[in-house]
Amino acid sequence: MGRFAYVNGRFLRHRDACVHIEDRGFQFADGVYEVWAVFGGKLADSAGHFARLKRSLGELKITPPLGEAALRIVLGEARRRNRIVDGLIYLQINRGVAKRDHPFPDPPVKASIVITAKAVDLAAGEARAAKGVAVISTPENRWGRCDIKTVGLLPNVLAKQAARESGAVEAWFVDELGLVTEGASSNAWIVDESGVLRTRDVQANILRGVTRNTALAILAREGVQVEERPFTLAEARRAKEAFITGAGNLILPVVAIDGAKIGGGAPGPVARRLRELYISAARTPSV
Ligand code: PLP
Repeated sequence: MGRFAYVNGRFLRHRDACVHIEDRGFQFADGVYEVWAVFGGKLADSAGHFARLKRSLGELKITPPLGEAALRIVLGEARRRNRIVDGLIYLQINRGVAKRDHPFPDPPVKASIVITAKAVDLAAGEARAAKGVAVISTPENRWGRCDIKTVGLLPNVLAKQAARESGAVEAWFVDELGLVTEGASSNAWIVDESGVLRTRDVQANILRGVTRNTALAILAREGVQVEERPFTLAEARRAKEAFITGAGNLILPVVAIDGAKIGGGAPGPVARRLRELYISAARTPSV
């Protein structure tokens, strides 16, 4: 983790940074977050993450403690102070500090904000992508507003831990119809057995992944057809290819689901090419 964290207006040494015990993020998971990948010192998909942050805050009626312009400056400063060239920036905004009581504080309190940054080993990410990763499936048990990027992530945490205990890196939630919703921290994609590239539509109860969105734009530019249509776990197991998208792992090939090999157990051409295109786009100057 980087050496400095931003907490409510100040940069502090990471080891000294803390929030109040009455912070509603701590007590009720009453807050939202965003994660930006950083490539060569630039925030990837910057506009998409800011737009989603604004939406998440709006859905929870949390007034942002900083406007977007100021926030951009602070994020840049967090990157600079931690000397991040390639890495991740994490931002969390909670409703604020108030005596513990479920309804919103009245009068409202100032939202609290925390930003941390860490370097990422790109070579390790490439090695992981070159091999591909395993996923497990797990029953969907989250609330009905997964479109909001809240810090209430306990089902995701438990699913990830189950994945880790079975030697996998991601868990795919599967709803009561047998359809894959998304991963615990990523969106799910397949190239189905008839060669159609598919990912679930965002009208469903999933996070509107920013990486997913950029991947769709890249694919459209390349003339690759995508169907935003859900797929069953059974279809995924028969798929030619599978992969996940997210700011943490970018485009990551999936080579096994619940222990069954996908695409012969090797990363497929669509995921590999999309990863290359995504990374090269992220490296070019963005808005
Ligand atoms: N779905 C979930 C549940 C996530 O937590 C994430 C990222 O953390 C994603 C999808 C991918 O979103 P993005 O591409 O914006 O990082």
